[in-house]
Amino acid sequence: MNSQDIIYVDNNATTRVAPEVFEAMRPFLTDWYGNPSSVYDFSGKPAEAIRTARRQMGELLGADDDEIIFTSCGSESDNAVIRSALETQRGRRQLVTTAVEHPAVLNVCRTLEKQGVNVHYLGVDHFGRLNLEEAAQVITEETALVTVMTANNETGNLYPIEQLAELAHAKGALFHTDAVQAVGKIPLDLRHSQVDFLSLSGHKFHGPKGTGVLYRRRFTPFAPFVIGGHQERSQRAGTENVAGIAGMGKAAELALAHLQEENTRVRALRDKLELGLLQSCPDPMVNGDPEHRLPNTCNICFKYIEGEAILLRLANLGGICASSGSACTTGSLEPSHVLKAMGLDYQALHGSVRFSLSRYNTEAEIDKILEVMPKVVKSLRALSPFGRK
Ligand code: PLP
Repeated sequence: MNSQDIIYVDNNATTRVAPEVFEAMRPFLTDWYGNPSSVYDFSGKPAEAIRTARRQMGELLGADDDEIIFTSCGSESDNAVIRSALETQRGRRQLVTTAVEHPAVLNVCRTLEKQGVNVHYLGVDHFGRLNLEEAAQVITEETALVTVMTANNETGNLYPIEQLAELAHAKGALFHTDAVQAVGKIPLDLRHSQVDFLSLSGHKFHGPKGTGVLYRRRFTPFAPFVIGGHQERSQRAGTENVAGIAGMGKAAELALAHLQEENTRVRALRDKLELGLLQSCPDPMVNGDPEHRLPNTCNICFKYIEGEAILLRLANLGGICASSGSACTTGSLEPSHVLKAMGLDYQALHGSVRFSLSRYNTEAEIDKILEVMPKVVKSLRALSPFGRK
């Protein structure tokens, strides 16, 4: 199959690199390969490219250039903050997070738990919503860090990070948000925010893979995770991924220019898809918060059939790439920990499919999915001992 024949609706897993991003990267993979830390003129262009990208990232986030730390991915940014907080907040041995975080947060917390750190995982209701009263009760003077994602990768749910940051600060704790899924999809303005740290990942908004940022509010205590040379003002060692950083900067500039489109055209396509599926498939149910959700994500369950089977048929019949859980859990037999935390029953857990759109999707693609999907669901249900009616 040709990549042009694909209908790609798995943009929460990764996104296509924008052509402008590729062009912004090219010179640093061909002619301008100098090390940005070297003193000769040949390194001037790579160093300049990093400065430009820092400004572009800052403009997207509403942050100052010196608050941007380039990392290798969202996972690294998450790891760095969590470990740093325990080091800088001496005497505080508790972390507060949620049961629906990405493994990049959850698995660090679990590892630290084994080393004696006390971790509280906030629960969610059937719609995946947090209870702020529970958060207010468990955040104490013992808490080093509260870390709650801005948007969930599976359901698209948005979380009340400003209220949570306020609760954290009231007890002297730091606040971090994993905004990997939010950046480029909803507006963020850190100048009018209480967030201390924010993680993002370039490949989720049409930048290259292997790029990330850790936003650190100026003067917030931070202990580096990758220690070595003096890159990133000694906050993250390692020779800079110049091409990747230049590409991510360009992706940030484009994301800012397209933010309005995410909220209008992409949202309208998502809504058309969701409504169409609800009307044409038997027993569907939308997973997630009906009110506070990313504009691009639709997570829907079709009872009595396997999400994996739906995915295979979608790919075979229409070249449609969707997901039945986050990319990191696909391949394991365990159902999604997010949907589990929401209390979905066995049938719903196994029959859920996520469609996540981007600005590159078209109405014709949505029409094609709406044509193929009901046939797939009906044919699989006919094979299911529970689904036959
Ligand atoms: N956090 C969230 C919410 C994610 O969705 C992902 C990736 O899917 C990550 C973190 C990890 O990002 P990366 O792949 O850049 O390490």
